[in-house]
Amino acid sequence: MAGNDEGPAIGIDLGTTYSCVAVWKRDRVEIISNDQGNRITPSYVAFSETERLIGDAAKNVVAMNPTNTVFDAKRLIGRRFSDPLVQKDVMLWPFKVICGENDKPVILVTHRGKEKQYAAEEISSMVLTKMKEIAEAFLESPVKNAVITIPAYFNDSQRRATKDAGVISGLNVLRILVEPTAAAIAYGLDKMYSISDGKNVLIFDLGGGTFDVSLLTMVKSTFKVKSTAGNTHLGGEDFDNRMLNHFVQEFKRKHKRDISNPRALRRLKMACERAKRELSSMVHTHIGIDCLYDGIDFNSKITRAKFEELNMDLFEECIGHVEKCLKDAEMDKKSIHDVVLVGGSTRIPKVQQLLQDFFDGKELCKSVHPDEAVAYGAAIQAAILTGQGTLEIRNLVLQDVTPLSLGIEQNDGEMSVVVPRNTTIPTRKEKWGLTTRSDYQTIVRFPVYEGERPRTGDNIFLGEFALSGISPALKGVAKMKVYFDIDVNGILTVTAEDEATGNTNGITISNVRGMLSQDEIQRMLEEAKRFKLEDEEHKKRFEAKNSLEDYVYKARAVTRKLTDAKKTESEIESAMEWLDEHKDAERSVLEDKRKELKSIWEPIITKL
Ligand code: AMP
Repeated sequence: MAGNDEGPAIGIDLGTTYSCVAVWKRDRVEIISNDQGNRITPSYVAFSETERLIGDAAKNVVAMNPTNTVFDAKRLIGRRFSDPLVQKDVMLWPFKVICGENDKPVILVTHRGKEKQYAAEEISSMVLTKMKEIAEAFLESPVKNAVITIPAYFNDSQRRATKDAGVISGLNVLRILVEPTAAAIAYGLDKMYSISDGKNVLIFDLGGGTFDVSLLTMVKSTFKVKSTAGNTHLGGEDFDNRMLNHFVQEFKRKHKRDISNPRALRRLKMACERAKRELSSMVHTHIGIDCLYDGIDFNSKITRAKFEELNMDLFEECIGHVEKCLKDAEMDKKSIHDVVLVGGSTRIPKVQQLLQDFFDGKELCKSVHPDEAVAYGAAIQAAILTGQGTLEIRNLVLQDVTPLSLGIEQNDGEMSVVVPRNTTIPTRKEKWGLTTRSDYQTIVRFPVYEGERPRTGDNIFLGEFALSGISPALKGVAKMKVYFDIDVNGILTVTAEDEATGNTNGITISNVRGMLSQDEIQRMLEEAKRFKLEDEEHKKRFEAKNSLEDYVYKARAVTRKLTDAKKTESEIESAMEWLDEHKDAERSVLEDKRKELKSIWEPIITKL
């Protein structure tokens, strides 16, 4: 456990489209505003000729610099390039994603005139660094420790990759917490004193890129997740894409042109997102973009009914997951006391209506802030883990579950489940009676899979571990067992043991395709530090340039009052020309110039 002496610990909701940071301070949770005064920060990183921008500044340049502004890293993290969902997204993103080693997606951008490659973990780490800095500015102290949230339905590699992103950003990740549990904390704290007799609460979390539904029981201060379901690739971005596609088709019909340029597509997509939000409170809205493509202005309308029609299958999919979640928990919908809405996309009226109809007209609970509840809960968890918070908070007990079944491959492609889905974590499960399949076999390989299908080929391959040094014998004689350990973060470690020798040597989880190695993480950590220095230098250079410009303008204003103003005016004109010609000069050159001008003009200005 990190102690109080390690400074404040923060909670970060690392979202697909927006992130939010919160901290426990003065006996309550503070949602921290960023430098623009916003309580949520776009999960965007932009690279340019001169600098790297993160957050609002990056989102603001997306239409100008679409191919070098990266977003949606959460939809890539921990996934393979060949994943059909990644393939679908790649077609829609204006930035380039290519296939790297081990089928790992690699993001390509041009930064300072050079082509650069980044893993999704690195982009997410940049967003995390920004959130850390927002917290540091507010707390006026360095921040080391953080709780980072993930969708409950993230699999093992997505969890590991998010943790790696935290490490690359220089944070000590105290815990990876699932979003619905974090939201449940926010909800539960509110209700703590009225739930002593136990409540079943369904958290419906529909965000920008992911959808999670979790069923929890809350008894006094114990929050136990019973089941979880969802889709890590379903959210507001998909609704925007459906509308985008609708307007692209309309443009084609009207103007006989295919909008193929990334900048135009990005502008249209932003207009779609705006229209979608408006349709949550209005029944129709309009879109107007000057010079969208080939000099053609685009003006159109869309009704709420059309938007709903475009997305109805996705909305219905959400309800399907709710049914699955109830079934897994073996609960009837009538036994749910509260249905809590979390995530920006739960503002969509149709989503609310379908959910309310499913629960036979039950009033939905909107008491938690849909954009902030997750960070709020994460900050409480961070306080608990660092021994802060009130007594009630420190007494909170949170029990999560593993979202997917985990097992090993046996008998030619059969999935043998070791940890069934929805098992409370942390957990240790073992499987006995494993043996060799050929005579005198001394090494046995165990491929590890995750998923619910009976054939491993249909599930997700996580990695492979090998047990070596088995005493040579006829097949079926050796006896082995495997242990699956899942930690509090939902991250899996697998070990195997030869029962005869007790030998567990030489067993590692290896070949975890697409995951970063320790060396790569270290390299990225170094690069992140370099980036930080570069960003700081860029900021200082910018300040030096501003300060020089400011000085020249002030000098001009003051010296105009002089009797021999003409002479100084020409000097000032030439200083301004110098500034124009040295726009990209180094910080030291700008600072030297300011010193030089100051030494000439200061005596005159002081005299005045
Ligand atoms: P989150 O990941 O929870 O921050 O949710 C972000 C998503 O919520 C984005 O896709 C937003 O477009 C969406 N969103 C925010 N406000 C609204 C709204 N009023 N109506 C529909 N979607 C919204």
